[in-house]
Amino acid sequence: MSSEIEVVEDVQPLKQLDGVLANGNGYYGGGNNGVVGGFVDDESLRNDVYTVAAYGDLEKLQRLVEYEGRSLSEPDGLGYYALQWAALNNRTAAAQYIIEHGGDIHAADHNGQTALHWSAVRGAIQVADILLQEGARVHAADIYGYQVTHVATQYGQTAFLYHIVSKWNADPDIPDYSGRSPLHWAAYKGFADCIRLLLFLDADRGRQDKEGCTPLHWAAIKGNLEACTVLVQAGKKEDLMITDNSGLTPAQLASEKNHRQVAFFLGNARRLLEKRCDGNSRLGRLSKLSLAPVLLFIILVMLVTYTQSVITASNLPKLTAGFGLLAWMDVFLASAGLVMFYRCSSKDPGYIKMNALDPQNMKDSEPLLKIEINNPILLAGNWSQLCATCKIVRPLRAKHCSTCDRCVEQFDHHCPWVSNCIGKKFQQC
Ligand SMILES: [Zn+2]
Ligand SMILES: [Zn+2]
Repeated sequence: MSSEIEVVEDVQPLKQLDGVLANGNGYYGGGNNGVVGGFVDDESLRNDVYTVAAYGDLEKLQRLVEYEGRSLSEPDGLGYYALQWAALNNRTAAAQYIIEHGGDIHAADHNGQTALHWSAVRGAIQVADILLQEGARVHAADIYGYQVTHVATQYGQTAFLYHIVSKWNADPDIPDYSGRSPLHWAAYKGFADCIRLLLFLDADRGRQDKEGCTPLHWAAIKGNLEACTVLVQAGKKEDLMITDNSGLTPAQLASEKNHRQVAFFLGNARRLLEKRCDGNSRLGRLSKLSLAPVLLFIILVMLVTYTQSVITASNLPKLTAGFGLLAWMDVFLASAGLVMFYRCSSKDPGYIKMNALDPQNMKDSEPLLKIEINNPILLAGNWSQLCATCKIVRPLRAKHCSTCDRCVEQFDHHCPWVSNCIGKKFQQC
C-alpha cells in the first residue's frame, strides 16, 4: 500500500550497520548486541577508530589517536562517525573521549542523523546525557524530519523516551516531514508502552499525516491489536470516525488489510462508544441510568406502603403489642438497610486524585512528568501504570473505571446495583 510508512528504507542505515558489525567484514557476533561477543580476525579492521569506538575499547582508542595520530572528526567509508558508533552501543567513556579529542557532536551522516539519533536506537541514556551536556541539539532533525523522539519510538525505547522528554525537554509530539508524530510511529510499530507514555504526555491522538492517517489508522493497518486497544481506551468516539485521504476509517483499513480481529475490535468499540454517547436514544438513556436510585425508590415505596397499609391500617384488626413491636422493628431494619445502601452508592471507593483536574498542577509551568521523574514504578518500567486520562502514575492494582472515568485504588469491579466502584475503601469496611 502506497501510504504505508517505509520503515525498512527509513531506518535501514542503522540496521545495515548493525549488521556490518555483527556479521560482515570478518566479525562474527556471538551476542544479541551485534558488537558484544564478536571477535576480529582482520588486523586492519581491528585498528580503526570506528570499530574501537563501537566496542568501547578506550585504551586502544587512546593509542590510535595519541600515538598513531588517527582523526576522530572524519567519517568512515560509509559516512558514519566514531561518535555515532560509540553512541549506538552506549560506550560512555569512549564517547566522552571522542568529544574531548576532536569529535563533533553535531556531525551528521548522509541521512542527517547525529550521534544523539543513534543513541536512541538502543536506548543509550548515559551517552545521550553526555552528548546533551556537551551541547548536542535535542531538536536536531534528519533529512526525514526525525528527531531523537521519533527514533526512540521507532525502536520502542520507552525508558529512553521518558528520560529525554522529562530531563531534556525533547518534543514528544513533533511531526516529521511526512506529518507523522512519534505516536504515529509507536502505533505503526506496535510499541504499546511508548503509546501509553506519549498519551500521558498529551500527544495528539487525532493528528493526521500527509495521507490523512491518524496513529489509530497506522495501528489498524499493521494489525497491532494492543496498540489499538490503548489508543481506543484513551480516546473518544470521534477517533474511530476519522477518515484518511482515501475516505477510510481505521476499522475499514483493518478489514481491508485482513486484520479481522482488529477490525472486529474497532467496530465493537465504535458501537459501544456510540451507545454511551448517544444519551437521547432509549437504549442510551437506559445504559446511562444507574440502578441504585431505582432500587432505593422501590424499597422506599414498599416501606411506606407496608407502614400505611399493614401496620397502621384502620380497616385491619389491631396488632397485639408483640406483633406491633416486631412490625416496627421490620420498618427500622429496612430503613437502616436503606441508609447503608445509600452510603454504599455514594461512598468514595478509593478514587485517586486526578492530576489533570488539579488546579495547583495546572498552574505549574513545569511539565507533569517532572513531578514523577523519580517514580519507582516508572523506573521499574511499569508503563501500564500510567493513566492518560487522569494524568497520574497509579499504584499497582489500581485501574481506570470507564464508567466513573476515574482511577480507583485496588479496583475490583464497577457494580451497577450500587452504581459505584468496588475498591480499596470498601475492603476496609
Ligand atoms: Zn485514570
Ligand atoms: Zn466505576
